[in-house]
Amino acid sequence: MGRVCTVCRHPGRGAIDAALVAGDASLNKIAQQYGVSSYALRRHRDRHLSPALAALREAEEAEREASLQQRIERLIERAERLLRAAEEDGRAQAALAAVRELRSLLELLGKASGELNDRPQVTVNLMASPEWLQLRSALLGALLPFPDARVAAAAVLELPAGTDEGEP
Ligand SMILES: [Zn+2]
Repeated sequence: MGRVCTVCRHPGRGAIDAALVAGDASLNKIAQQYGVSSYALRRHRDRHLSPALAALREAEEAEREASLQQRIERLIERAERLLRAAEEDGRAQAALAAVRELRSLLELLGKASGELNDRPQVTVNLMASPEWLQLRSALLGALLPFPDARVAAAAVLELPAGTDEGEP
């Protein structure tokens, strides 16, 4: 009780912790390298390293999540470009596919950013978001010359069947 940890007080503590986290070398090897006892090193690893390790893992996790979000956002941009191109060329099937893709990407983005995890009502908010509504009416407008595709699109967009929204 009250015993001071020789590893915590070691001038090379940062390097020792890094070696423990990396897990490439055995405890005995690290202990030898830094001139501490393997007992002290094991004790330090079990009692003092875990908060540092947890913080490290948290940081890694946050970074992984950030990069996942960035990747999804890039995919969304690409799907939006595809949708615009399909609309300009009047390719209804391609536009429909792009909207389907966008919809699942937006949901994925919501999950990845943690917004949908604990709050199911956010799904409703997503469908009511200005970006989504704008996209939806753009698509339905683009599909006016293609009644069959328009009905199919309305189904994908979860609109009531036979909606006459946007009819002249
Ligand atoms: Zn320690």
